[in-house]
Amino acid sequence: MTKHIFVTGGVVSSLGKGLTSASIGMLLEQRGLRLRMQKLDPYINVDPGTMSPYQHGEVYVLDDGSETDLDLGHYERFTNSPLNRDSNYTTGQIYLSVINKERHGEYLGQTVQVIPHITNEIKAALAKPAGPDVDVVITEIGGTVGDIESQPFLEAIRQFSLDVGKENCLYIHLTLVPYLKAAAELKTKPTQHSVGQLRQIGIQPDLLVCRTERSLSRDDRAKIALFCNVPIEAVIEEKDKDFSVYEVPMSLVEHGMDELIVKKLGLKAGPLNLDRWRDLLHRLRNPRHEISIAVVGKYAEHRDAYKSIYEALDHAGVHHRATVRVQRIHSEAVEREGAERLLSGVDGILVPGGFGERGIEGKVEAVRFARQRGIPFFGICLGMQCAVAEFGRNALGLDRANSTEFDKDTPNPVICLLDEQKTITDKGGTMRLGAQPTRLTSGSKAAACYGATDISERHRHRYEFNNVYRDRYTAGGLSISGTSPDGSLVEVVEVSEHPWFVGVQYHPEFKSQPTRAHPLFAGFIGAAIEHHQADDRKGGKKGEGGEGK
Ligand code: GLN
Repeated sequence: MTKHIFVTGGVVSSLGKGLTSASIGMLLEQRGLRLRMQKLDPYINVDPGTMSPYQHGEVYVLDDGSETDLDLGHYERFTNSPLNRDSNYTTGQIYLSVINKERHGEYLGQTVQVIPHITNEIKAALAKPAGPDVDVVITEIGGTVGDIESQPFLEAIRQFSLDVGKENCLYIHLTLVPYLKAAAELKTKPTQHSVGQLRQIGIQPDLLVCRTERSLSRDDRAKIALFCNVPIEAVIEEKDKDFSVYEVPMSLVEHGMDELIVKKLGLKAGPLNLDRWRDLLHRLRNPRHEISIAVVGKYAEHRDAYKSIYEALDHAGVHHRATVRVQRIHSEAVEREGAERLLSGVDGILVPGGFGERGIEGKVEAVRFARQRGIPFFGICLGMQCAVAEFGRNALGLDRANSTEFDKDTPNPVICLLDEQKTITDKGGTMRLGAQPTRLTSGSKAAACYGATDISERHRHRYEFNNVYRDRYTAGGLSISGTSPDGSLVEVVEVSEHPWFVGVQYHPEFKSQPTRAHPLFAGFIGAAIEHHQADDRKGGKKGEGGEGK
């Protein structure tokens, strides 16, 4: 029988429910349990695919092409739980399905209501990941307890324990215990209220995870325990981590989290093995190098918009025992102030994915700077397309070379839409999405990084390299080192006469893990370290490489 853990959040949003859920998942997995992770999001959008990165951060893409919430990125970085379409549901998806059933007459004329029809649909979603080969499903409920829109989800998780048996469910509530400077005290009242709200709808949490700036005293924990109706050992402190998110599981272990869960659910678990995780933290704390990488994007000020990219850079840093200092550079600032001023002195330049014209010229300019100065360059999806445009304009003399996404009338549409994309008007789920095979040219930089020529990576784009230009590019020095297996779609480009210049049409950042850095990110950071050391040998004179092509 699969056991179910539900993680809810109270008091305020942004408490890090995703990270906490992922950390719990990691601990259970390291005790030999077979895990599935899932997130339910109360917003009405059908999926985050069409949501603004300003509001919602990055869209995280799974192998099966589903466009999901960025918390699923935490799940994949911390655990090996297989994720698919059933791993992320939104209110929009649940309602869409119920309304479609109603239109098809499946409710036989009944009045369709939140309870039971919507809640039944949610319960079906909760049950999907369970099965004979799964010991535990962790379901994170997005939003904050008390929000109107999360009510059907909370009602469904309450009912669920009646359906599968109370002994098979565990409720974890994540709350905030704020420190009030004026009173010089930690305050437990918001937690009491939040748990009160949960109890009003019939959920008594089993474990409380208390986010706090300062350690809770035994008295604080006793008070929370008393008012919230849980034993004192079920009040677990999760203190802010200013060093790394990868410390979170360790602090949960210190407070006995894994053992409590295993006992309460009667799980048959092995001993906890954290060797790999300890090694990761040791490497993070004891770097041998320090380098700076410029990420040139249009959401520079918004960390979550490039979440997986920043994480993947850190993982590659761990791999090389380097601290990676990321400089978030706004591509429009490059347009205004110039690449020289903003990018001189960095050890590597990365242009990430994106949509829309704003800031494009700044990205193209960043590519030019990296290519001509011999600075390691990594272009991802839109970043690769910018690299193609830049090379076309400045190395091949193709007038106004561009993607037709940004210049419909360019005389040189080096990136363009495939015929099958031209007729699509619906947004959401209509791009080239998910895992696709790529064949790499042996001897290329990409193949050297992967140590393989047949790979699979996740995609999310509409536009493609225009094959009409292939011969001109390869003759001019931009090699096409990866294509779809039939050779028809360009997946990887690189400049062989450059220390490290690689552009990929896919999103490698989604498959990087802290204890297993993605090979291309590892290659890029390795090249950046070499660049840094070469600069040091030149006496610290940075940004003065010779003019290349
Ligand atoms: N806008 C580009 C396209 O649709 C790139 C997409 C991306 O970077 N994810 O092809």
